[in-house]
Amino acid sequence: MMRAWWLLAFAVIVSVASATDVRVGPQGPGFYRMRMGGDEITALLDGTHPFPADELLTHIERSKIDSLLHADYLASPVQGSINAFLVKTPDRLVLIDTGAGPLYAGDGGFLPAALAAAGYRPEDVTDILLTHLHRDHVGGLIRNGTMFFPNAIVHVNKADSDFWLDPANEPKVPKILLPMFAGAMDSLGPYLKAGHVVTFSGETDILPGIRSLPAPGHTPGHTWYLVSSGDEHLLAWGDTVHVATVQLAEPGVSIRYDYDEAAAATSRKRALDEATAKGYWVAAAHVSFPGLGHLKRAGDGYQWVPVNYDRTP
Ligand SMILES: [Zn+2]
Repeated sequence: MMRAWWLLAFAVIVSVASATDVRVGPQGPGFYRMRMGGDEITALLDGTHPFPADELLTHIERSKIDSLLHADYLASPVQGSINAFLVKTPDRLVLIDTGAGPLYAGDGGFLPAALAAAGYRPEDVTDILLTHLHRDHVGGLIRNGTMFFPNAIVHVNKADSDFWLDPANEPKVPKILLPMFAGAMDSLGPYLKAGHVVTFSGETDILPGIRSLPAPGHTPGHTWYLVSSGDEHLLAWGDTVHVATVQLAEPGVSIRYDYDEAAAATSRKRALDEATAKGYWVAAAHVSFPGLGHLKRAGDGYQWVPVNYDRTP
């Protein structure tokens, strides 16, 4: 009997030891593409970032955050995807946001590998549309201080460029947002110098089939882009949602990175209503990669319906 007990203990020790020996490596370059009307949409993963939802979300009890996360088998910090989206139209190659590049240390900067894996070169990109000028959206513009997309015209809402490219606005933001100024100035600098930045205001046709929809709150000039082809539409909504599990259930929940939390909540509810009512595709910067899907109503909130995987779209 004694001998059997020792054998069992030995077996347990061996199995624990071999379990800790299994090294789980990282993923490969992340891209996912699909057809939408006559366009090709490619999600590009720049990286993932541990996101302290319980510290950063506002207008919600911490225990409620924990219970919503727990119900989705998650816990804070949640790994948040950093997605960008490439839209190939019949005559243009348009990148919506650029990821964090080097500005999130080792968490970001994988977009170039994803782009190459998808079969494109940086010089192929004709236009870059920025949803806003935070670091995890502009950081990928440059590499070693020079333009990573040498032929691209960068389109940005004037309300955002006026704000983040002017250090005089620094006293207007909480401490957590201060690094966004240098991030925007450094990343856009070479494009400004080369005359590759154009600004727009309000709702307007940026390119054939792509319309800007101002959605202020997260930043003063935060912008959605509505991509239309045939009778299909894709809403690239930037930072409308940071933690889908919590903010789709409770759309009034904002985040400390929102410049104006109340306005951000208003924009979020508008996006969720419209995307649901009109059946839009959504391209979300921080919903789990590839961040492409639809929305449907669920109780008092909403539910994310991820794109159905298709190997040969
Ligand atoms: Zn972001």
